[in-house]
Formats: sequence, structure tokens, C-alpha cells
Amino acid sequence: MEVIRLHLGQVSSKRRPFDAPVHGFIIKHPSAGAILVDTGIGNPPEELIRHWDIVNRAMAEAMAEHDLSPADVRIVINTHLHWDHCGQNAVFPRAPFYVQRAELDRARREEMLTSEWFDFAGAKFELLDGEAEIAPGIRVIPTPGHTVGHHSVVIEDGPEQLFIGDAAYTKDIFENFEDFPVERLTGQAENVDAWRDSLRRISSRDTDAIHFCHDTRVVHPHRH
Ligand SMILES: [Zn+2]
Repeated sequence: MEVIRLHLGQVSSKRRPFDAPVHGFIIKHPSAGAILVDTGIGNPPEELIRHWDIVNRAMAEAMAEHDLSPADVRIVINTHLHWDHCGQNAVFPRAPFYVQRAELDRARREEMLTSEWFDFAGAKFELLDGEAEIAPGIRVIPTPGHTVGHHSVVIEDGPEQLFIGDAAYTKDIFENFEDFPVERLTGQAENVDAWRDSLRRISSRDTDAIHFCHDTRVVHPHRH
């Protein structure tokens, strides 16, 4: 299955060393149509701009670069509902949003600033309780720790590809997660034990490619 990485913006913290691209991914599925993993940032409210420098890129523009348009998207999977992963959900008013039930519950409690980005009128959620097949050869697996309801997306058809959202922000964190001083990087792990456990499970998989939302590099664990 063809995978396209979208460049949806750039975020940098005004208070700590964090400067990263924001990616979403299109999986061109042969029968289900285009599946979008994460929707980047929306038009940020004042409160967010106080803490972050945000460069937002419109979904239509990012997709046009690859001769695609939002109308092509049939299914949206949000790895989780932080503001830089669901910002343009409303661009897809008819698509079902696949999220873990635990994640929507968390976001409705905690993401008050950006609640309209994912909880807009008419948003059609497909709520999941754990692992699930979304389309033939496309599965989500729970990878909690970054948030309680974070999940990752697996292409199981052919060499396995994994989209791990924010389970690790970058290649460096992913490759050193056992020793990484995660307590010092605010936001990476809401629950440190669950976070490490999820990364152990991801690492133990026989995966050909691991894609990040905040790092353009791709990890190929078995290629040397
Ligand atoms: Zn996040």
C-alpha cells in the first residue's frame, strides 16, 4: 500500500527546546480508499499561541502537493486527540473518526481549548476499545502512555509499517526509550510505565518501517 507523508506544519515551544514538524499520513488503500492518519493543527486559539510558535498548513494545500484532495479521504484515524493531531478533523465532516473510547473521554475532560477541533457538531466517531481492524490489512493497536487512549496504526499487508503518532516524538527518543530521561521532556509520557511498555511492544514487532508525526526520518529496524 502506498503511503504519503503530509507536511502539516511546524510547532516550537516558547518555553522549552522543542521544535518539530507536524506530519499526517495518507494510506492509499486498494478497497477502502484514502485513509488519513492524524490531521495536524487547526487555527490556534490565543491561549495556545501564548506557549507555542505555530505554523499551520491547510490540509487541502498539503494534499494538493500529492495530487490529492480532502474529498478523497474516506476514513480518518486519530492516534490521539492532542491539538496537533486532530486540528483539521472538521475538514472531513463525513469521514468516520477512529479513536479509542478512553482517548475521547480524556480529551473531553482535558482538551477544552481545542474541543471544537475534534468534537464539532456532527463529528462521527467510531469508538474503539483496544485493538481493531479498520479496513483489510489496516489495524490499530493500543499504545498508551503518551495519553491514556493513544493508539498506533499498522499496515499488515506486505512488510509491516507502523505509524506511532506520539508514542515517541522522534527517532532518537524511539531508539533510546529505555534510558531516555522522559520525565524531563514535558508531554512525552503522561504515564511513564505505560509509555515504556508500549515502546517495548512496538520494538518487539517484526516491522519494516516506523513513521513519526514529529520527525521526518523513518526507522527501519531490520535494515542495516
Ligand atoms: Zn501528543
